[in-house]
Amino acid sequence: MKRVLITGAAGFLGSHLSDRFIKEGYYVIGMDNLVTGDLRNIEHLRSNPHFEFIHHDVSKHIVIDGDLDYILNFASPASPIDYLKIPIQTLKVGSLGTHNCLGLAKAKGARILVASTSEVYGDPLVHPQNEEYWGHVNPVGLRGCYDEAKRFQEAITMAYHRHHGVETRIVRIFNTYGPRMRLNDGRVLPAFIGQALRGEDLTVFGDGSQTRSFCYVDDLVEGIYRLLLSDHPMPVNVGNPAEITIGQFAEEIIKLTGTSQKVIYKPLPQDDPKQRQPDITLARKVLGWEPKVSREEGLRITYDYFRNLPEERLYEESN
Ligand code: NAD
Ligand code: UDP
Repeated sequence: MKRVLITGAAGFLGSHLSDRFIKEGYYVIGMDNLVTGDLRNIEHLRSNPHFEFIHHDVSKHIVIDGDLDYILNFASPASPIDYLKIPIQTLKVGSLGTHNCLGLAKAKGARILVASTSEVYGDPLVHPQNEEYWGHVNPVGLRGCYDEAKRFQEAITMAYHRHHGVETRIVRIFNTYGPRMRLNDGRVLPAFIGQALRGEDLTVFGDGSQTRSFCYVDDLVEGIYRLLLSDHPMPVNVGNPAEITIGQFAEEIIKLTGTSQKVIYKPLPQDDPKQRQPDITLARKVLGWEPKVSREEGLRITYDYFRNLPEERLYEESN
């Protein structure tokens, strides 16, 4: 049985990846320090004989007994309000945490895939963004703690690949959504759905003309699975190219939820990217991958998840 370490396993993406690898017949070691994650995301796996959980901060030295075939490094706060609250931990997990995972991969002879992000392109001057674009990031702006941590992560991953011959993969993930996002993590989809369910107005930041391209989680997991098993060490964008303005997105959520609330406008956060859309030509070519789930279908599944949560979860404070 192949053994995979998934860091950030109690988070949104890490928990879905854990499910997928167990389904594919792997033994999964989930590691998390629960800083933004939630054990409820992996509750259903805790009694599974092919899953174990280790409570550990990956920015500190990692010890794993036995062999490892793969490492998926997903530990990091991912939502702007999370990483703005803990900017130093965010920089540490992207840098020291990634270094520890790469060292572990080298020691075990394991292949490692790291979770990078469309944020490496910053507020992009090229649209849509392809992997050749070097980005437009403000290193000293508020989002710099996340963007630069992820850029460093890519750089150290390539250094381990070139200098130590470690087998590495880098996925640049674009905005992904689905069940198990934290309702209060500040990202736009849980923010809007949470507001609709609580009977609050939906808060659009700025004039709502900024764009994002939302990918359903199952599509993303499929892309990551294929990338891990591919022989492509350079970064690959994985995301859904269907682009929408945040204003239109709020209208879609109002329609979906049937709320009688309206949109209210709040100031745009500093350095909020004006447009974002993945160019997935490379993923189509090297992974034979493209998203399959439409936004309409993905939003319906996600909304069903949120509205079936116990009501008190709508009012939980963030970690
Ligand atoms: P999440 O906050 O739900 O999950 C992140 C998990 O990492 C949490 O469980 C958290 O407790 C854990 N973690 C954070 N720091 C840690 C540390 N030092 N040691 C151990 N565990 C730690 O976020 P997510 O959306 O699941 O994102 C997962 C990864 O994917 C992140 O690396 C993020 O940067 C990347 N990513 C996500 C998206 C997206 O749209 N969801 C987009 C781009 C990149
Ligand atoms: N946003 C918004 N209202 C909210 C939360 C977010 O209008 O309550 C906007 C935010 O300013 C950004 C977009 O939605 O333009 C996506 O934000 P998110 O935090 O989900 O992701 P990111 O900015 O990292 O892409």
